[in-house]
Amino acid sequence: MLKSSHYNIEITKDNNNESVIFNSFTGAMAIIDSKTYEYINNNDFIDISDVPEEIKDNIILMETHGYLVDKDIDEKERLNILSNIARFGQKTLVLTIAPTMDCNMSCPYCYEDHQQSKMSQKTALKLVEFTKKHLITNRFNSLYIGWYGGEPLLEIKTISKISRKLIEFCNDNNIRFNSSIITNGLLLTKDIAKLLKNDCKIGACQITVDGPKDINNKRRISKDGKDSFTQIINNIDDCKEDMFISIRVNVDRYNNESMYELIDFFKSKNDWNERVNYYFAPVENLTEACTYNKKSCFSHSEFADINANLLRYQYSLSKNMEIPRPKPKHLPCEHISPNVFVVDPKGYLYKCWNNVGIVSLNVGHVDSGPIFNKEHMKWLSYKIPNECEECNKRPLCQGGCPYAVMQNDCKLECHHFSMGFETNLELLKDQFLTNELRNHEKEVK
Ligand code: SF4
Ligand code: SF4
Repeated sequence: MLKSSHYNIEITKDNNNESVIFNSFTGAMAIIDSKTYEYINNNDFIDISDVPEEIKDNIILMETHGYLVDKDIDEKERLNILSNIARFGQKTLVLTIAPTMDCNMSCPYCYEDHQQSKMSQKTALKLVEFTKKHLITNRFNSLYIGWYGGEPLLEIKTISKISRKLIEFCNDNNIRFNSSIITNGLLLTKDIAKLLKNDCKIGACQITVDGPKDINNKRRISKDGKDSFTQIINNIDDCKEDMFISIRVNVDRYNNESMYELIDFFKSKNDWNERVNYYFAPVENLTEACTYNKKSCFSHSEFADINANLLRYQYSLSKNMEIPRPKPKHLPCEHISPNVFVVDPKGYLYKCWNNVGIVSLNVGHVDSGPIFNKEHMKWLSYKIPNECEECNKRPLCQGGCPYAVMQNDCKLECHHFSMGFETNLELLKDQFLTNELRNHEKEVK
């Protein structure tokens, strides 16, 4: 006996009376004819043997893709169990390492306190020893290193030294090694990209851009006064064959209108293809170190609308574009898991990037390893807001950023991941139907 999934979300009903239904737990999307739709809506429970032959295949498909589930399944409990497995059952040690908090840019919204601190060689060696010990003691079978800062490429020698030692250790102990970097892109020359790829096994990098050239250069301010936009774009052109590059485009009230021009610019980069992608993200004022005016930042719902409009514009330019599919996830953020740490240049361990440099919020040190202090317990026992437990969009956002929720006295502001995705689904549907029509026309010819 089957019932409709709690996570079914109906998006549209079009002129043909077809509905688009999305299941936020499986991520499946379907266009459903009116007969099937009515049958499901008119029956609280469905016995496959009673289903009329003409829609039986549809009903079976809907069960396969999670729109219909066994009537005895407690879907919310199933999601809780999967969240616990994702949180406490990981065999990958994830370290985000800041080899320096210094930066060669000074962006007005940066949340980091740019202390002139860089990791000493002594701390780097202690970090390597801590990592080796933690990998073996906890029987991890995989290590993931993310580099960030400040600007991590200011300390390329430290990155290279730590990476080489850990890669060698992982090779000797049959441990998988993966790595990526978040950089402002100013120092990412072709030689550096090759070194990162070959010596440090860094296969992907994220670079931030704030708009077309004029806007970007007023916000992504290079300390040497040079044109940061041109330098970053030239570096992307030079390095894209060596690593996959993802461009994060920061959006707030001051630059949102310029995003259409930026999309036109990206569209003109024909040779970027699948080596370079970009996405829009809101500027958020979450920490005390951030000097940016909160009023300049969009709320999540405002950003969701803006993002949807930008997606529509991209689609109008390129009907073949890869439309992002809303993706279910089991955790709001991996940093609530016990296997994930951020390391600052002094060797302190933290749970969240936003806490880096605030020594009172450390959860250990590379000297001693993690400690179960109050701060650490707070992260490991974090629970998503109660309101989210019942929400049928929960798999899309899992309540959003835990840091933001905890900062906000656990009051909820729904995350933009859970809003605006209807636009993605509408465009996916349009793309699907357009392709079908094209294929049909080809067959007729
Ligand atoms: S943050 Fe909002 S959309 Fe996300 S699970 Fe919670 S209530 Fe639902
Ligand atoms: S808790 Fe929020 S800010 Fe911290 S790492 Fe996770 S998503 Fe980022």
